[in-house]
Amino acid sequence: MGLRDRGVEIKTPEQIDAMRRAGLVVGQTLETLRAAVRPGISTAELDAIAEDSIRSRGATPSFLGYQDFPASICASVNDEVVHGIPGDRVLAEGDLISIDCGAIVEGWHGDAAISVAVGTVSPEVTRLMEVTEAAMWRGIAAARLGGRVTDISHAIEGYVKRNGRYGILEDYVGHGIGSAMHQPPNVPNFGRPGKGPKIVEGLALAIEPMITLGTKESIVLDDEWTVITADGSWAAHFEHTMTVTSTGTWVLTALDGGEEMLGRLGVPFGGRG
Ligand code: MG
Ligand code: MG
Repeated sequence: MGLRDRGVEIKTPEQIDAMRRAGLVVGQTLETLRAAVRPGISTAELDAIAEDSIRSRGATPSFLGYQDFPASICASVNDEVVHGIPGDRVLAEGDLISIDCGAIVEGWHGDAAISVAVGTVSPEVTRLMEVTEAAMWRGIAAARLGGRVTDISHAIEGYVKRNGRYGILEDYVGHGIGSAMHQPPNVPNFGRPGKGPKIVEGLALAIEPMITLGTKESIVLDDEWTVITADGSWAAHFEHTMTVTSTGTWVLTALDGGEEMLGRLGVPFGGRG
């Protein structure tokens, strides 16, 4: 471990298995929420569904009470990028909602996010969602044992830039995850490859591009949480928690462990049991 690896938590296989259990709770909860999104539902109702889903699976919502955050999900609509607080807002046909969710099992964390169209959205917004999700997968696929963390960053930025004129948030980034939700290292969604800590077995990362139809600049609202784009452009956010085992890549918050998408991208699947 070199200096740049300072503070990176290396998990045992048993600890990664516990993170997989947390990740499945998050993945299952997000699928329940995806199915619940419709015009007329409020973000507070989605939050109640999420808390029930997490607790009914024997897990604890990690967002609730985190730095006094008042809910189990972040619900960010249209020009809100991340950290939106669930409340009275009712979703309307054509909206875009990003839902971020975290759960704890036996002290180990999972963290993932999806963007979902409310009814039918514009082709431009559909494309934004597709590019953001695909960029996340390109980032996941770029993580290899012996590589460096910013190999992921570079893959995300490259994919986004090859696919249109989008803003990539720089003030918010992916992160290490394990016995806490946010740990070193940062995983930016841009930058040169070959930098940051070495990717080793037992490292777990949350990879989460936040992409806009306009600027990369963002503003925090007076609620001290909600991050909106500075120019009012809409934004998408996808996130998975992943690790690399001796046999390949394992996406801990994906229901299938990432096996299908990794296969399409030519990356060995490293999931267990
Ligand atoms: Mg998250
Ligand atoms: Mg995260």
